[in-house]
Amino acid sequence: MRFGSAFNETLMKTSIYDDRKYTLQTDLTIIGSGIAGLSAALFAVQEGLDILLLGDAGASNFASGLLDVLAAFPGKKIDHCSDPWQGMAVLPEHFPKHPYNRLQSDEIYQAVVQVMRALATADLGYNGFEKENVQVITGLGTCKQTYRVPESMWPGVKAFQDKSPCLLVDFHGLKDFSGPWLRSTLAREWPAIRTERVDFPETRGHSELFAVRLAQSLESERVRQKLAAAVAPLIRDEQFLAFPALLGLYSSGAIRAELEERLGVSIFEIPTMPPSVPGLRFLETMGGILNRYSCFRRESGKRVSHIQREETGQFALTLGEGEFSSRVLSRQVMLATGRFLGGGLQADPEQIREVVFDLPVVQPSPDQDWHQEDFFDPGGHQANRAGLEVDSVFRPLDTKGDVVYENLYAVGSILAHSDWMRMKCGAGVAIASAFKAVQSICTASNQEDRFSL
Ligand SMILES: Cc1cc2nc3c(=O)[nH]c(=O)nc-3n(C[C@H](O)[C@H](O)[C@H](O)COP(=O)(O)OP(=O)(O)OC[C@H]3O[C@@H](n4cnc5c(N)ncnc54)[C@H](O)[C@@H]3O)c2cc1C
Repeated sequence: MRFGSAFNETLMKTSIYDDRKYTLQTDLTIIGSGIAGLSAALFAVQEGLDILLLGDAGASNFASGLLDVLAAFPGKKIDHCSDPWQGMAVLPEHFPKHPYNRLQSDEIYQAVVQVMRALATADLGYNGFEKENVQVITGLGTCKQTYRVPESMWPGVKAFQDKSPCLLVDFHGLKDFSGPWLRSTLAREWPAIRTERVDFPETRGHSELFAVRLAQSLESERVRQKLAAAVAPLIRDEQFLAFPALLGLYSSGAIRAELEERLGVSIFEIPTMPPSVPGLRFLETMGGILNRYSCFRRESGKRVSHIQREETGQFALTLGEGEFSSRVLSRQVMLATGRFLGGGLQADPEQIREVVFDLPVVQPSPDQDWHQEDFFDPGGHQANRAGLEVDSVFRPLDTKGDVVYENLYAVGSILAHSDWMRMKCGAGVAIASAFKAVQSICTASNQEDRFSL
């Protein structure tokens, strides 16, 4: 690995501060509203910081809604770890530069719990074991290890564990989900799973159906009634009924409870291919929670097009371009811009670049391949470990290993040395790094306040 592009000093040249130039001034601007940015925003508003959250769709819009903390160690073969905390204890030995090594295990745990508690207040419960990953079946019929699953999937974890009789219902025309395929893949392990296919209410004449659209239509009581009527005669002696994960977008808890009452069985969801409804529920619910705080502001749909540093050390950000652009002055900035899908990193044939600040990117050296020949290579791909090098509180480092700006932080999947795909640590790294960075900002602000007294 090497550091990539030379850091573009000219982008950051200072300007004279002028109050009238800004439409908004804030303590902290978080660039990115994926799992990392939303978590950082939550931790920050809970500490009373005045924040602005930027960004729209990123990789998190495709995430499954399962919250991984740590489930595998890549290498010549993949070593699965059923207890993420035990895995964390040996991580420094195997992956000394992994972002988790900048935190204590109990800080990571506390960060995850804080997000879970907030979600629960908005009726989006998550469940799991304290010291063990959960095994959940996916829409492909594979079994995935993760740390926390939405409450809507929890009965499925139990049903799969006990191999209980279960009816899986899917829908004519639903894209990328097939009950019969899932059953045939699981047949040996879970012989008591049976499938039926029905027409989804009010979709006659549609040859293709998409989970997000069906989830929205289940917000209507009329549609739920029709669905229950179609499924009720199919249930034999099963105690469990499974659906692809599309039971509502905004009030999924209530929808599932209502269907359970109508049908007299325990209902659970099976994750689908992206974009996944439970993943979108997570993002929507976090957004709703943040809106409760008066110190929270959000600007979606405008990218940061330019940043410069004022003489005061604050950052002046330009959002959007041309006539409709606006300017923000911020004491601190947190980059939660994600990787290639989110827009935080870009690759050209020579190198991988960080887009907003042109920060140095740790990346494969010119003589190394970015990718292995086999997509499923158990060691993962070098390019997936590329990203920003940071200090102990998640501030980006320059090529000499010095902090670039004392008030600039980077969190989430843009960090180097963390292959979330292979290690199954995506949400965990996003949440934990956000937690630590916000703590550091609060500590620094408290110290400033003490000195100014
Ligand atoms: C298909 C898929 C499935 C996944 N499944 C799981 C899973 O099961 N479990 C799990 O734990 N993790 C999963 N993940 C990983 C997880 O989504 C990521 O680890 C997590 O999203 C962290 O992403 P992030 O918040 O750092 O960045 P992202 O989600 O990519 O967000 C980046 C944000 O930055 C914004 N942005 C970028 N540039 C700019 C700019 N110039 N100005 C303003 N805004 C900007 C974008 O608009 C976006 O809001 C999955 C990911 C994918 C793609």
